[in-house]
Amino acid sequence: IGSASALRLGAPDRLLGGLLADDGFDERSCHSRYQFTTYRRNAGRQPSPYLVTKLRRHEALQRRCGPGTAAYSDAVEQLRSGKSHAGSGTIGSPVCRYLVSISYQGLGNRILAAASAFLYAVLTDRVLLVDPSNEMGELFCEPFPGTTWLLPPASFPLTGYTNFSIDTADSYGNMLKNKVIGAAAQQLPAFAYIHLDHDATVQDNLFFCDEDQRVLRDVRWLVMRTDSYLVPGLFLVTGFQEELHMLFPEPDSVFHHLGRYLFHPNNHVWGFITRYYDAYLATAHQRVGIQVRVFGDDPESPELLRQITTCTQKENLLPELLAAGEPAAAASARTRKSKAVLVTSLKSWYYDQIKSMYWEHATVTREAVGVHQPSHEKHQRFGVRSHDTKAWAEIYLLSLTDVLVTSGKSTFGYVAQGLGGLTPWVMYKPANGSLLVPDPPCGRDVSMDPCFHSPPFYDCRIKQGADTGTIVPHVQHCKDVSWGLKLV
Ligand code: GDP
Repeated sequence: IGSASALRLGAPDRLLGGLLADDGFDERSCHSRYQFTTYRRNAGRQPSPYLVTKLRRHEALQRRCGPGTAAYSDAVEQLRSGKSHAGSGTIGSPVCRYLVSISYQGLGNRILAAASAFLYAVLTDRVLLVDPSNEMGELFCEPFPGTTWLLPPASFPLTGYTNFSIDTADSYGNMLKNKVIGAAAQQLPAFAYIHLDHDATVQDNLFFCDEDQRVLRDVRWLVMRTDSYLVPGLFLVTGFQEELHMLFPEPDSVFHHLGRYLFHPNNHVWGFITRYYDAYLATAHQRVGIQVRVFGDDPESPELLRQITTCTQKENLLPELLAAGEPAAAASARTRKSKAVLVTSLKSWYYDQIKSMYWEHATVTREAVGVHQPSHEKHQRFGVRSHDTKAWAEIYLLSLTDVLVTSGKSTFGYVAQGLGGLTPWVMYKPANGSLLVPDPPCGRDVSMDPCFHSPPFYDCRIKQGADTGTIVPHVQHCKDVSWGLKLV
């Protein structure tokens, strides 16, 4: 059944208003792609017709130039030779250009990095190839029909690319410093490494300037490393602004659309998600997600517990409790409303405490409150598939809730809120490591889009340092990370 007829019949629009391609996939290879709308009560935002058209065009580019094509072999050979390309493709078709995205750090960071790389690839007509290490090849379905978005590392000539760092001589920043790229340089390099890590230099960050984008445009291969959500930075590049406005007339929904387009849990992870959802969340009248981002070595904090309970009760997300011994008015099981609370955390203590509270005391509203936590992995681990599977499943389960409370500054929470189309209540960290419960304990975020934690502080037009949170109206500072930038 096509998306138009599904809409007519009143069924959920499983292709999200054309965001997802109608054909070219085998349904059995990726159940989540076809089932996820039945798990989402919040239908989310509609993509613009321009975004839909652009995505179909981009998919065609990925197919024409991706791994396995003659164009790809040609581009790899040129990169191996170390020469810059001559500038023209096969007669009648433009030359294929590439962006390799290296993702690292936690899963939230990796997802935001890949989404940022994808938007940059779309804006600059480059083929996106994701480095498959760090489980990036193990958790998701292929997003583009008829091709792969994963870089085949064995035949990739830049050996050691995953270790590229601030010191790599081929980074755009270092090449600028050494005048091997830019106006004074004789010829273009075969590739440039784009270092947009949290430690990026002022020169690396010139990436966000029009002039530099014009130079990079003709470099056939770019390899990008970031752990950040770069998208608010792309909105600062004047040359991209008109296109971005047409793609995203509602700028606060950029990751919402990109995330739902790109990141479909593979069948293994989808099993984790659906089994948990069906067993613990499906029948509740309301689902409340609470993300408690703590680190393995953090002590259990009664203050953080109080922050969670005061936030949720003050904002009417969870009911208050009757004092012990106070008789609860009887409510028949048939009329009683139920809430399912999904807690995610590396620790189980917060969940245990909240669960006991709602077992040991009746609620003022007589609602039944069930509290659930899928896993408590204790420590963050790297390169462990079972650990990343649980992290991805939990991010996704959080995105299926009706209201969401997150921990400030966490990319894990950002991904959940964006996928779900949920503007969260954010629990801010107390200032200077204070033990006092912040007052207010949480606040509603200004938008659902993630925060860019390491933005440039430079105004390209006047060529000097500037507050980039005041240049474009819909790029503002984040509430949870005061120096960060986000789309509103
Ligand atoms: P951030 O560090 O909060 O920005 O989030 P990231 O997702 O980038 O990195 C944190 C990593 O720690 C996750 O990817 C998981 O590996 C692990 N982790 C943190 N919190 C949780 C949690 O609630 N559940 C699970 N399963 N893993 C978590």
